[in-house]
Amino acid sequence: MELRKRLLAWYGRKKRDLPWRRTSDPYAIWVSEIMLQQTRVAAVVPYYERFLARFPDVCALATAPLDDVLAQWSGLGYYRRARHLHAAAAIVARDGFPGTAKELRALPGIGAYTAAAIASIAFGEAAAVVDGNVERVVCRLAAGDLTKREIGERAQAWISPRSPANFNQALMELGAIVCTPRSPSCPRCPLREFCATRSDRWPTPRKRAAPIDKRVEVVFATRGGRVQLLRRSGTALLDGMWELPSGKQTDGDVLATVKHGVLNQRLSYRVWPGRRTAAGARWFTVREVGELPLTTAARKCLKAVGFLP
Ligand code: SF4
Repeated sequence: MELRKRLLAWYGRKKRDLPWRRTSDPYAIWVSEIMLQQTRVAAVVPYYERFLARFPDVCALATAPLDDVLAQWSGLGYYRRARHLHAAAAIVARDGFPGTAKELRALPGIGAYTAAAIASIAFGEAAAVVDGNVERVVCRLAAGDLTKREIGERAQAWISPRSPANFNQALMELGAIVCTPRSPSCPRCPLREFCATRSDRWPTPRKRAAPIDKRVEVVFATRGGRVQLLRRSGTALLDGMWELPSGKQTDGDVLATVKHGVLNQRLSYRVWPGRRTAAGARWFTVREVGELPLTTAARKCLKAVGFLP
C-alpha cells in the first residue's frame, strides 16, 4: 500500500530521537506510554530517564514504596498514573508481562490506546493506536468528521503487519510535527497526495471552555531550617502528595506569587509567611523535601521563596 510505504519512509528519515525509541524493553516502553498520557514529549524525557535510573525493571518498581514512586513522579502531574503503574507492576512482577493488547488492558491504568501502543511497539502486534494525533490525521485524510470507531477501523486497515510499531509511531509523529492542530504543514507532508483536505480547509479545533481564575493562599513556615508541609488526602487527583498548608497571615507581606495551571483552572498562589504549626503538619529539611512526593504547585512556591534551589 502506497500510503503506508510513504509514511514509513518519511518516519525513517524524520522521526525524533527519543529515549524510549532506543529500547525494546516492554517495561521501559510501558513506562514511557504511561508518562506520555496527557503530557508533552519534552516534559516527559527527563522524568522518564530519572524514573528508569531509579526503577530499572518491573521488580524494582513493584517492591518500591509508593511514596518513592510518587516522589519520582512529582512534577509530572496526573498522579493516578503513578499509582496505577505501581499497582500494575506488582501484578506483572508476579504473573509476568502480558504479551497482547487484550491482556494488557486488564492491568490498572492501561486503556485501549496504551494497550495497543505497548503491544505493537514491544511485541510487534498489529494493533492500531488511536490517540488525538491519529484522530486528526485520519479525519483530515478523509476530509470528514469520522467517529472514533471509523478512525480505528481505517488505522487498523492501514497498519503494516510487518512494522506495526513503526507504523503506529509514524502516524502519531506525523500528527505531532506535521499535521498539527492549528497549522498543518501540508507542503512537506508525505501523505498530501492521499489527503482529501490538504491545506484547503481543515476542521478547526474545538474551542476549550474559558479557564477559571482562582486565588489560593498558602503559608510558608520554617523552623530551624525545616519547612512545614501537610499531606493531602481525600482527593483522587493528588492524594498522598505533600503541599504547603493553606491559609493566610494578616501580619506579614506576601512572600511570592506563583502561577500554576491545572486542567482548566489558572491558579494564583500567594505565599504568606507563617509561624503556627498547622494541624497534622510535619517539618522537613531541604534534603528530605527532595525525596518527598511534592505537588508541582508546592515545588514552585518553595522555589519562589528560595527554600528549594
Ligand atoms: S496534507 Fe496536510 S491536512 Fe493532509 S494529512 Fe498532510 S498535513 Fe494533514
